[in-house]
Amino acid sequence: MAKTKIVTIIGARPQFIKAAVVSRALKQFETTAEEKIIHTGQHFDANMSDIFFDELDIPKPHFHLGVGGGTHGQNTGRMMEKIEAVLMEEKPSMVLVYGDTDSTLAGAIAAVKLHIPVAHVEAGLRSFNKKMPEEINRILTDHSADILFTPTATATTHALAEGIAKEKIQQVGDVMLDAALYYASVSSNTIIEKLSLEPRQFILTTLHRAENVDDKSRLQQILNGLAQSNMTVILPMHPRTKKRLLEFGLTLPVNIRIIEPVGYLEMIKLEEQAALIATDSGGVQKEAYFHQTPCVTMRDETEWVELVECGANILTGADENKIVNAIQQSLTVSKDIFSRPLYGKGDAGLLIAKAIV
Ligand code: UDP
Repeated sequence: MAKTKIVTIIGARPQFIKAAVVSRALKQFETTAEEKIIHTGQHFDANMSDIFFDELDIPKPHFHLGVGGGTHGQNTGRMMEKIEAVLMEEKPSMVLVYGDTDSTLAGAIAAVKLHIPVAHVEAGLRSFNKKMPEEINRILTDHSADILFTPTATATTHALAEGIAKEKIQQVGDVMLDAALYYASVSSNTIIEKLSLEPRQFILTTLHRAENVDDKSRLQQILNGLAQSNMTVILPMHPRTKKRLLEFGLTLPVNIRIIEPVGYLEMIKLEEQAALIATDSGGVQKEAYFHQTPCVTMRDETEWVELVECGANILTGADENKIVNAIQQSLTVSKDIFSRPLYGKGDAGLLIAKAIV
């Protein structure tokens, strides 16, 4: 009997981590199902892409489209054209897309127009800010999808509120919890020693959202806020942020230490050992919670509202004073708030694999 063929479409750092979880779960069904991976090329630097395939044991992509570096329209259009060609050749039973990038949208649209069922992992998230490219990508992908794997009750509610049929929605929990649990148990590395850091004496920061780093005044306010923390700030620098800092000619405060982007295993060690995390990332907000580290989110809104509601996360926007105050406040939060099972049981990958196979 022919195997069920699933084509997974990924292209950006957070998608490699999410896909690692589902690919590992799919291997349990390899007698009946096979997965082929398309890498769109959206993230292409070795430390934004290859390192994740190597250390997370993700199967090497079968197709590498080499699309990246253009505008949203150029990237999405070029990806759709190339994905369509692969799908016409491969004729999969299902296409699997993750999250909210241009690769996600391109994959979903290319598949749905060929009448290939689409499954969306991390469906139903909303920031209600349509200026974010990610928000448009999520909405259109959810409405193209045949199965929406939602991570939280809030995400399920958003999808239902937009009229998506409840039969299409499966709330499975968050694959990033699976990743955090699995890789924390198998990882050992010496990043803390390598950087000569004292555990719980530093802030870990990531910064890459377009609304922050493409806006000189917001970026400056964020740097000012971090400067006033009077703590060492470790900042693995996203290539987009590096480019903007140079373009804007901004100088970094002395307490901010820039390092190259790190692999996932080193990242989770930094997250576990930080006194707090200050970020504008989506995934890092949740990882802070998984590793019981307080979080300050330097955005005007978040998709992960349950973290703010339980007090594990404080939203500051790009407001210098709010950042300073939130850092002070976060350093005193009690560990008890990290005990709620907000993101499922850590078996989302297996539930997704079972459902699609
Ligand atoms: N990450 C990493 N190395 C870094 C910075 C982030 O491995 O130097 C991981 C992080 O642990 C999380 C994911 O990348 O799992 C988040 O990706 P990103 O912040 O780029 O995207 P977002 O979640 O905001 O879409």
